[in-house]
Amino acid sequence: MAALDVLDKFTGEIIRSLPIAGESEVDAAVRRAQRAFPGWAATPAHRRAAILLGAAERIQTRRDEFTALIAREAGKAWKHAAGEVARSVETFTFAGEEAKRIHGETVPMDASAFGEGRVGFYLRAPLGVVSAITPFNFPLNLVAHKVGPGLAAGNTLVLKPAEETPLTAILMAECFRDAGLPDGVLELVHGPGETTGDALVRHPAPAKVTFTGSPPVGAHILKVAGLKRVTLELGNNSGTIVEPDANLEQAVPRTVMSAFANAGQVCISLQRLYVHETIAEAFLAQFIAATRALKVGNPLDRDCDVGPMISDEAAARAESWIREAIGEGARPLTEIKREGRLLWPVVLTDTRPDMKVMCREAFAPLVSVVRYERFEDALAMLADSPYGLQAGLYTRDLYKAFKAVAALDVGGVMVNDTSIFRVDQMPYGGNRMSGIGREGVRFAIEEMTNLKLVCFNLGD
Ligand code: NAD
Repeated sequence: MAALDVLDKFTGEIIRSLPIAGESEVDAAVRRAQRAFPGWAATPAHRRAAILLGAAERIQTRRDEFTALIAREAGKAWKHAAGEVARSVETFTFAGEEAKRIHGETVPMDASAFGEGRVGFYLRAPLGVVSAITPFNFPLNLVAHKVGPGLAAGNTLVLKPAEETPLTAILMAECFRDAGLPDGVLELVHGPGETTGDALVRHPAPAKVTFTGSPPVGAHILKVAGLKRVTLELGNNSGTIVEPDANLEQAVPRTVMSAFANAGQVCISLQRLYVHETIAEAFLAQFIAATRALKVGNPLDRDCDVGPMISDEAAARAESWIREAIGEGARPLTEIKREGRLLWPVVLTDTRPDMKVMCREAFAPLVSVVRYERFEDALAMLADSPYGLQAGLYTRDLYKAFKAVAALDVGGVMVNDTSIFRVDQMPYGGNRMSGIGREGVRFAIEEMTNLKLVCFNLGD
């Protein structure tokens, strides 16, 4: 079996090598999950909840171990990795709580003349085996958003974590085993997307594929998955507007963090920043100063702000987009500096909407600042995107806030915050090229259960 080398993204050393699952290993994992399904589906809700809460507790206890692993295999700065671990504990806790309130409703059958004398209700039943495929950028919490609701609902899962960051998922699975999760209920397979992932997606047995990752892979999965439910959580070129009445003391540090946390490798990372011309000078002076003050380097340092990107190729691709934009007339407001996977935060201005740094998903520590005169124009520019995940708007003007809510075809609008805000119980997901379906524990459970209608004929 070929091996998958998992690298420390800062030092480049191999942390661990894993066997790559081929088609037969994927098939064996799916079969184990299939065999485990009837027992897990019949496990009482309070017991499923206890296991989820038990795993959450173990992750909390081992939080420093998780944080260090995420910092090493994903290159995520310690403070942000620690934040991810804390959120994952919440996500699994929400899943444990939700496991106890999965239920249907009665249906007024006699509202139809043809339904007289009948009593109806529906239940929520688990689907069966769920295939879960996750990206590198949140190796714990985005896994939690599939495993938590999946287990809460009584499904069994086969998880293929990103090949760059599988070790965090392995540690998480260990916490579940220690919390009493039966064998086969959560299976892990490792390997590249094009082979291991593809075999999992094409396998006919699972009832659903839940995927978080890039739009091209999402579109491919939709084509080859066959007759299954599919949830797709995809990318975005997220934007935020800063109106003149914004509280800059809040907006400046928040927009800086939103653009550069996790080296910009966040699906709701701030990439397009629209600032009203009357405050642009003052805003930019503070924004650039705060950006220059960010500490770039070893993610294990407690004061690191920006660690390495996931790969040399990803960092080189981002640099080439930046240089291309500059060649086409964009102006850098920070120094363009890259050392291997480390790319220093980049602020561009004088960008045009058709430049790659604006119209494609950058997924890198870079942001373009665009000045505008009229709010309506800023809103039109923000809305002009094939993606539709989240957007932000700083204003104290309710009229403008509601205008934005109405105008933006996105999954979430953050008023007095940036596109990056997320808590794990809220409905979360995108429209158009940003995906299909919603996560956020309760909402993912809805998508991981089938409604089963029961009707009693009480007529004589
Ligand atoms: P990616 O699409 O390259 O990979 C994601 C996962 O898909 C990995 O596990 C990979 O191995 C697998 N994969 C790749 N090709 C496959 C194939 N042909 N068949 C089956 N599986 C395959 O994405 P990435 O680089 O890991 O992550 C970055 C992307 O994820 C960005 O576009 C980002 O916006 C998106 N993302 C979205 C959300 C969200 O919730 N909407 C959250 C985080 C990241």
